[in-house]
Amino acid sequence: MPRDPAFLASLAASLLDDGGMAGGMALVYLDCDRVCRHANRHFAAALDRSPAELIGRPLAAIDHPVTAALGAAIAAIISLGQSQAHGSAPVDCPTVGCDGRRSILSGSVTAHRDGAGTILGFLGTFHQTGDPDRIAEFVTCRDSFVATLLDAAVDGIIVSDRSGIIRSINRACCRLFGYEDSELVGRSMTILMPPPFSRDHTRYVDTYMRTERAKIIGIGRDTLGQRKDGTVFPIHLSVGEARMGDDVTFVGIIRDISDRLAAEQRASYLARHDPLTGVLTRTAFLEECEALFAGHRADGPEGSGSGGAGGGLFALFALDVDQFSDVNEAFGFHVGDAALKAMVSRVTEVLPPNTIICRIAADEFAALSRVADADQARTLAGVLHDRLTASIYADRHWVRLRLSVGAAVQDETVSTLEDLNAKAKLALQAVQHNGGNAICFYTPEMAAAATRRMMLTMHLTHAIERNELRLVYQPIVDRAGRVRSAEALLRWDHHALGPVSPGEFIPVAEESGLIVPITDWVLSTAIAQMTAWEAEGVLPDRVFLNISGQQFLRGNLTLRLEELLGEHPSLRSHLGLEITEQAAVRDLKVAVRTLGELADLGIQAAIDDFGSGYSSLSYVQQLPVAKLKIDRAFVIDVPENPKSNALVRAAVGMAHGLGLTTVAEGVETVEQRDFLVSVGCDLMQGYLFGRPMAPEALADMVRTQAAPAIA
Ligand code: C2E
Ligand code: MG
Ligand code: MG
Repeated sequence: MPRDPAFLASLAASLLDDGGMAGGMALVYLDCDRVCRHANRHFAAALDRSPAELIGRPLAAIDHPVTAALGAAIAAIISLGQSQAHGSAPVDCPTVGCDGRRSILSGSVTAHRDGAGTILGFLGTFHQTGDPDRIAEFVTCRDSFVATLLDAAVDGIIVSDRSGIIRSINRACCRLFGYEDSELVGRSMTILMPPPFSRDHTRYVDTYMRTERAKIIGIGRDTLGQRKDGTVFPIHLSVGEARMGDDVTFVGIIRDISDRLAAEQRASYLARHDPLTGVLTRTAFLEECEALFAGHRADGPEGSGSGGAGGGLFALFALDVDQFSDVNEAFGFHVGDAALKAMVSRVTEVLPPNTIICRIAADEFAALSRVADADQARTLAGVLHDRLTASIYADRHWVRLRLSVGAAVQDETVSTLEDLNAKAKLALQAVQHNGGNAICFYTPEMAAAATRRMMLTMHLTHAIERNELRLVYQPIVDRAGRVRSAEALLRWDHHALGPVSPGEFIPVAEESGLIVPITDWVLSTAIAQMTAWEAEGVLPDRVFLNISGQQFLRGNLTLRLEELLGEHPSLRSHLGLEITEQAAVRDLKVAVRTLGELADLGIQAAIDDFGSGYSSLSYVQQLPVAKLKIDRAFVIDVPENPKSNALVRAAVGMAHGLGLTTVAEGVETVEQRDFLVSVGCDLMQGYLFGRPMAPEALADMVRTQAAPAIA
């Protein structure tokens, strides 16, 4: 075949004639400098130009995707070098005419070389098609790069025509649905959807065919897919629309979201449930209760149709385990956790079905139940307290919890959940304020009491700096009526409120933590007073100070006392501390250690209010204490009440058996004194011998030994 460029050019020219051999083919000839030498009408039309606009122009100067594709093909041929006598490269190029019609120009470029293989020019021969199928095929399949890309995609990609027939599908999508691609191509998309969705899809397609409006385009949504084996799974589907001329192709990208949904469900479960006990969290509880409440309001509070088990009123129970940390400390967290789980299952057992339970804090729970009336709520609270304070077998240990229950029942003053919640909380505070381990139902006085406590807390903060605190001393006498020791008792005279009793402000100080600086004030004031008494020669054998449980268990009491007594070592053997049996028993290990340290310093310890708690001498015998103070509650009805007589006699006997000295508190009458002396009680304290008094008065008493003598 002649390789003369002139020959080829004329060949091309003849081919380029519309009536020539070219038929519908688009032809172009470029010289070796890539200047367009010939272009027929079809080629020029594909570029939206006339042949005259192309001929004589360098390829690079003609801005069009086709010229770019040609340039790339030529570069590919050149890169093959001379080894290929007839280098040629395919060209496939989508075009959009100025009328918006899409087509594909496909064909090849062949190098025109001389005998030596030198490139003289390039002949491009193309066929142009606007066939939608071809275009779709081109878009999805023919372009091997795109096909590879689609198959490499992790997401399922599916191409369908406007009527929802699958044109092509990538590998990931086949895997996702369990089909071979040959089983899907040509089938309706609905094969991949479970029935309700497949019906919806058919409706979408119908609507689309009529209106050309596709609601889902561009909007991703979560839906369901159905595998070949019939299993249904959650998918995220996003659909894109590709318009090619009149034709429309939909491209769907599908992602299996089973894992994501499972993670989301787990996250939302965790956000709403306590991981340990499985009950609701506080926020979820409030939401659910609020919804129930709203439904209840709509039904009317008395509505029997309101549906809850148990009747027509809401009762809210606020539960708080007293000193739960003791359980953790004594047995370890695994036992604490097991006890909490057991608690929840007991709450579920006791309270009516449909009760909503939540864990508010580590050892705090709330439960909202439907009850017939306030009486039923009281009964339930009683059973709840009994069940929850009964021994729990938790992780191979028997544990007994002390539980405070505050409860409120819906009445005409309660219109929202917050009202009920606030009331139950006030009731809980009231229980805790009174020593815990009991049940309390809300009463209007509680709100006033809580307000007063808040006000007292506020004022108490400034009591020390305003010099409103003072200590009074009550004599403790022996059987002969001689003052042997004294108890320091705190007094608070508020400038506006007047005297506030320690019975009222000590619990407030304990709850607010103000007890720490207050105790420090008591210690230093009492030691200063003892120093003065020592100088005057009127120091009793012992001066007892009251130490609250919180302060006693804090750990630095010994250190502080050592510091304060540093300059007065002689006072050590004159100092005594009173701690309640509850405080000592709360953390027996710390109590034993602290009392031991105090004894080493020469400081004596006494168990205060013995018998008022529920612990026993078996605990007391483990404590290095010297004195047992029998609570006023026992002394008050001796000698009339034989039971009290027996109890006091037994307490004195057992204390003596353990080598302890007994002190009876609250002795007001001669009869009481005589009885106590008769049962061998060593020391007595009470109004009969002297009320708590100013330090000067006690000094006078010691000086003159003015206590009434025992007959
Ligand atoms: P307590 O330690 O049991 O103190 C004895 C209480 O009984 C005192 O009440 C005392 O005034 C009162 N009392 C003594 N003899 C009689 C009597 O014959 N009849 C009657 N009816 N009462 C008698 P007070 O001073 O009101 O103290 C109440 C409680 O406040 C004390 O009980 C103690 O637990 C606490 N407290 C007082 N001062 C302090 C303190 O400095 N620190 C701490 N942590 N608590 C203190
Ligand atoms: Mg005391
Ligand atoms: Mg006492």
